Amino acid sequence: MPNLAWIAHPDGFIYWYNKRWYEYTGTTLKEMEGWGWQKLHDTKELDNVLKNWKLSLATGDPFEMTFPLKGSNGKFKPFLTRIVPLKDASGKIHHWFGTCTDVSDLSEAKEALSISEERFKATFEHAAVGIAHLDLNGKWLMVNNQLCKIVGYTKEELLKLTFQDITYKPDLELDLKYVNKLQKGRIHSYTIEKRYVKKDKSLVWISLTGSIVKDSNGINKYFIAIIKDITETRKAQEEKQQLELLSRERNELIKISKAKDEFISIASHQLRTPATVVKQYLDLLENGYAGTLSNEQAKFIKIAYNNNERQLHTVNALLKTAQLDAENFTIHRISTDIAALLRGVANESKVSMQIRKQTLHTEGLDKDVKLKIDPVEIKLSINNLLENASKYSHDGKVIYLKLKKLKTKITITVEDKGVGISPENHHRIYEKFARVDNELSDTVTGTGFGLYWVKQIVELHGGSITLKSELHKGSKFIINLPL
Ligand code: ADP
Repeated sequence: MPNLAWIAHPDGFIYWYNKRWYEYTGTTLKEMEGWGWQKLHDTKELDNVLKNWKLSLATGDPFEMTFPLKGSNGKFKPFLTRIVPLKDASGKIHHWFGTCTDVSDLSEAKEALSISEERFKATFEHAAVGIAHLDLNGKWLMVNNQLCKIVGYTKEELLKLTFQDITYKPDLELDLKYVNKLQKGRIHSYTIEKRYVKKDKSLVWISLTGSIVKDSNGINKYFIAIIKDITETRKAQEEKQQLELLSRERNELIKISKAKDEFISIASHQLRTPATVVKQYLDLLENGYAGTLSNEQAKFIKIAYNNNERQLHTVNALLKTAQLDAENFTIHRISTDIAALLRGVANESKVSMQIRKQTLHTEGLDKDVKLKIDPVEIKLSINNLLENASKYSHDGKVIYLKLKKLKTKITITVEDKGVGISPENHHRIYEKFARVDNELSDTVTGTGFGLYWVKQIVELHGGSITLKSELHKGSKFIINLPL
């Protein structure tokens, strides 16, 4: 018999041990007889053993316990001890029969199992990713803390749901397709990106790796899911895509804008040359180089001349804009008497203002201010502001042109008492092609380029342009140029 065995009297006095007992313990019957076996016990366990043994002796119930017993080598090994009462026909106990089975191997296996279970639990609970087991219908069987955090449900809440319940509906079909393949054994695992609906109804992007566990007969048992929150990665990816799209669109726009500028440049050159020639010939006719003109002829030629002038004006504006937009546009600064320049512009504008019976008031044009500017461009800019002031003022109004010298800059103000510009359009007027409708825009011509290039020219000089204007009250454009 491989087990240790012994027999005791009804009162627990052991009077016989088998051979294995003596072999294992290295003791003799003399030492062991009665209650001598106690010296083979671990003192920490002995009280408990005695208590249970005495209880069995008192009640007549069988005894079962695992405790260590010391071997002949002085080392302890765990033994499962079972003691059964042997009774006679009347039910009276006449002997107790005990066996002790060495369960060291079993204990080791149990301990190993409990360590591995503990490790699994720790890995499961503390993992930085969501981990779950699900039954074959998709019901959550086991979920870790991280998964609860990702979806915002508590463990108890989640265990009442299925993965279908919390999957964002448009993403469910894809997932079910893979689940189906897993169940049929066509794949061993799969990884997809999909969305869950969190408890607060917001969406969370996750990466899901799913696999299936089978028993030894190959029957499907449950699913394992590894779930990672990828909201941030998705966000970064989407932002990157958005940026790429924007950059592509921007490049496309730049290309279109370049092509358009080129077209404007070529077209306006082509238009300007014949219009200039027409102007020269009309001049010759008007001045009588082809004979004296009748009143009717002179009137017609005047109309032709005025219209040709308008065309030239538009073409020049187009050309100017195309030049400004060209990458190599530069200003040519020379030391300029700014007051003299403004006096010149004022004189030229007075002529067209007279047609509208408007008067130009000037202030500060007697100052001696020398400034390094591009006189051609600045003259064109002021001229444009004065033209606008006249165009967008009713007949008979006064227009002001003022020059001021401050510590670090000069200011040139062009002010009118005209139709004004409503505040929401103050920024728009500087855009290319921006024409803002007002009560006079139907009666005057314009291209929508003027203020665009005035602003560009002023900024190329390191200056700025500001506007104060109210609808129906008038406008005040102030050009600041650094000294
Ligand atoms: P254009 O006069 O050829 O339309 P501009 O670029 O010079 O183009 O001006 C843009 C718009 O700004 C004009 O269409 C007009 O509505 C408004 N604007 C410019 N100057 C004035 C002004 N002095 N008074 C009122 N509106 C003005």
